[in-house]
Amino acid sequence: MYYVSTRDKEKKNRLCASEAILQGLAPDGGLYVPSKLPELSKDINVDLPYDEFAYRVLLPFFEDDKNLSKEDLRDICRGAFNFPIPLKKLSNTSVLELFHGPTAAFKDFGARFLAFTMEKLLVKKNEKLCILVATSGDTGGAVASAFFKRQNLSVKVLFPKGRVAARQKQQLTCWGENVESYEVRGSFDDCQRMVKSAFVDPSLSGLSSANSINLGRLLPQMVYYVYASMQYVKEYGKEPVIIVPSGNVGNCTGAYWARKIGSPIKRVALSVNANTTIPEYLESGKYNPRDAIKTIANAMDVGAPSNMERLFDLFRSYEEMCSNVSAWSVVDDEIKRTIKEVYDEEGYVMCPHTACGERVRRDHFANEDTIIVSTAHPAKFETVVEPLIGTTVEMPAALSSLMDKKSIYKEIDADYHQLF
Ligand SMILES: *Cc1c(COP(=O)(O)O)cnc(C)c1O
Repeated sequence: MYYVSTRDKEKKNRLCASEAILQGLAPDGGLYVPSKLPELSKDINVDLPYDEFAYRVLLPFFEDDKNLSKEDLRDICRGAFNFPIPLKKLSNTSVLELFHGPTAAFKDFGARFLAFTMEKLLVKKNEKLCILVATSGDTGGAVASAFFKRQNLSVKVLFPKGRVAARQKQQLTCWGENVESYEVRGSFDDCQRMVKSAFVDPSLSGLSSANSINLGRLLPQMVYYVYASMQYVKEYGKEPVIIVPSGNVGNCTGAYWARKIGSPIKRVALSVNANTTIPEYLESGKYNPRDAIKTIANAMDVGAPSNMERLFDLFRSYEEMCSNVSAWSVVDDEIKRTIKEVYDEEGYVMCPHTACGERVRRDHFANEDTIIVSTAHPAKFETVVEPLIGTTVEMPAALSSLMDKKSIYKEIDADYHQLF
C-alpha cells in the first residue's frame, strides 16, 4: 500500500501512510491519495466497538507501513475514537451525528486521529513538532483539543482579534500546557500569512500544520461512512443515499472513498451553501474557484475547495464526475426555514450546516432512503439557531466543560516573529 501526490502522474514518489501524514502537503503542491483503494475486509461488522471497527477498516491503508505496526494503529484508534457516533432516526431520514466529540463537530475525528498518529511517530523517532494553525472558527478548537497533552507536540493557535465569537474564542484559548493561543491584531488572512511566512523561514524548523488536506484527517473521515451505511443496511435492508454538508470537500471525499472500497452506499450527494463553485462546475463543466461568500453556515464558506483535487483524481473525466457527484446550493433564507421546519415537525434542532443537508434531502431525495450527515452540534451556532426556534439549545457536556476553563492567550501584532 502506498500513497502518491495528485500531481505525480507517473507515481514516482511513493510514500507509506505515516510518511504522507507527517508531510501534510506533497512537495509538488499536490495532495496525497492512495495509489489504489483496497477492498473492505470481510471481518468487519457494526457490532464491533467503534475503535475496533475503525482499526479494521484502516488496517489495509497502513499495510507494510515502515513506521507504524498493527498494534500502533490499534492504540491510535483506541485513543482517538473514544466518544459515541449515533445514527439517529427522524420520521423521514436518519441523521449521522458526528458532533459527540470534545469540541462538538466532526473535525474532532480527523484532528484526534492525526494527533494520536503524529504522537506515536514522533515518540518513536525522538523528535518534536510544533503545529501552527490559523483559524477563524471550528478547526482551531478541534486541533487545540486533539493535540492538548500529546507528547512531543506543541500547538500555536492564531486567531484574528475581534472576529471570532465569544464561545469560539473560549474554545481556542482554554488550553495552556503544550497549546498556546495568540490573538492577532489583524484579519484571518493576516493569521494565515504569518503561518506561511514561518514555514518558509529557514531559521525555524520543526514546524508543521494540521489542516484539512492532511491524509491523517481524511482517512478517519472515511470510517464513519462505512460504519453508518452498514448499520443502515442492517437495520432497514436498503442502501442509503448519504448527503454531506460540504465546504473544502474533505468530509465527502471520505464518503467517496468509503463507497469505492465497497461500503453499501447508494449515492453520495453534496450540499453547499451560497458558495456555488461545485454545483456550477457540475452544471457547466467549467471549474472556476473563487473567493468565498459569507453565510450563516460559515464553516462551509469556501469558494476554492482544497480537497477538490482529490475528487478530480478519483473521478478522472467530467462524465465520471457527474455520474458520481451531485451538489446543490442552499442559501441562508432556506437554511433558516429548514431549521424551523425540522424543529416544528420533529422537535429536533439542527445546526445551519446540517440544515443545508436536510434542505437538499427535502427538495431532491424526499422519497429515498437517506442519511443526513450532521457536522456540528447546534449549540455551537446558538446566535443563528435560537431565534429561529424560540428557545435555548442546551450545550453538550463536553463543550460546557470547556466554557468553565480559564482562558489564557497573548495578544500580538500580525508579525510571526512574535510567536517564537
Ligand atoms: C468544516 C465543516 C464543514 C465542511 O466540511 P469540509 O470537509 O470542509 O467539506 C461542514 N460543517 C461544519 C460544522 C464544519 O466544521
